[in-house]
Amino acid sequence: MNAAPKDQLGRPMRDLRISVTDRCNFRCSYCMPAEIFGESYKFLPKPDILTFEEIERIARAAVRCGVTKLRLTGGEPLLRTDLARLIERLAPIEGVKDLSLTTNAYLLAGLAGSLKDAGLQRVTVSLDSLDEPTFKTMNGRRAGLAPVLAGIEAAERVGLSPVKINCVVKRGVNDHTIVDLARHFRGTDTIVRFIEFMDVGNLNGWRLDDVVSQKEILASIGAEFPLIPVPPNYAGEVATRHRYTDGKGEIGVIASVTKPFCGACSRARLSPEGKLVTCLFASDGFDMRALVRDGKTDDELTQAIQKLWGARVDRYSEQRTGQTPGTRKLEMYHLGG
Ligand code: SAM
Ligand code: SF4
Ligand code: SF4
Repeated sequence: MNAAPKDQLGRPMRDLRISVTDRCNFRCSYCMPAEIFGESYKFLPKPDILTFEEIERIARAAVRCGVTKLRLTGGEPLLRTDLARLIERLAPIEGVKDLSLTTNAYLLAGLAGSLKDAGLQRVTVSLDSLDEPTFKTMNGRRAGLAPVLAGIEAAERVGLSPVKINCVVKRGVNDHTIVDLARHFRGTDTIVRFIEFMDVGNLNGWRLDDVVSQKEILASIGAEFPLIPVPPNYAGEVATRHRYTDGKGEIGVIASVTKPFCGACSRARLSPEGKLVTCLFASDGFDMRALVRDGKTDDELTQAIQKLWGARVDRYSEQRTGQTPGTRKLEMYHLGG
């Protein structure tokens, strides 16, 4: 069997997103609404969660199948104890060209140095608004901005760069603050990527009407700071790129609702309990943990991934309708972004 398989639509597997925990210190309404994920919510028990050794074995098998980029995510990955020890295991894997982390950055200021020393290359920080009341509402925990901004600064200081900022735009919630966010990072090396609110999971009450489209986002920012489109950095780049005409940098837009990009989707995802998932909108994944805990060899792990990827036909965003479908999907906080 081909070591680096292509799926049924001819797409290779290049990225593996590893969700290291299903827990989070925030309760963003579009991801883990506080009214559902309250104090009594049962997260995964520790024995169910992959150990660092198990994650490393699965990551190595994925790299043998063609993966070159690893991203740690969650839940909030910085809540996983000793995350730097996992990074130390993943960074030296031959064939890994890019090792990054997506975080809400609330705990980043104190950890950035040790993550960098362990081998992390860069971070993406989720930051939905620089307006304190809006930010507090969106994160669902009334958490303030200061620790997040300190985390971004620390990341830049230690060289976890270029830092990218992810901003999910939800109509009537933070769309009035996106121009300010763009303005704040204009003229710096930090690229803000605005994300259309997606119908991930089953719990965030998604409605098409709440999606602020790429077109609207570009019109708002472009009215103040004229923009021109720029070609992608590489085939399959998720965000479309738009440069300020006065040379003060660029922004990105991830338009997974209005301009789906399934055609070049090369991403697989590993859930905290070891399910390998071939689409963000899947209803289940393949149980890699069972193979690992059953004593399967590295070759057997590789073959299982090859078989799974080889059969892949996912293209959910290209088939989406205005309604969240009745089928139950995995949750974003569980699967990672
Ligand atoms: N807790 C970390 C964070 O927020 O960066 C990592 C996990 S979070 C699930 C990963 C990314 O998914 C974040 O940038 C978040 O904004 C994005 N996300 C979560 N729910 C979303 C939704 N419904 N639509 C679009 N993006 C979403
Ligand atoms: Fe937590 Fe990230 Fe989901 Fe917000 S988007 S609730 S920070 S996992
Ligand atoms: Fe990839 Fe699925 Fe998203 Fe399409 S909907 S881009 S296949 S993760």
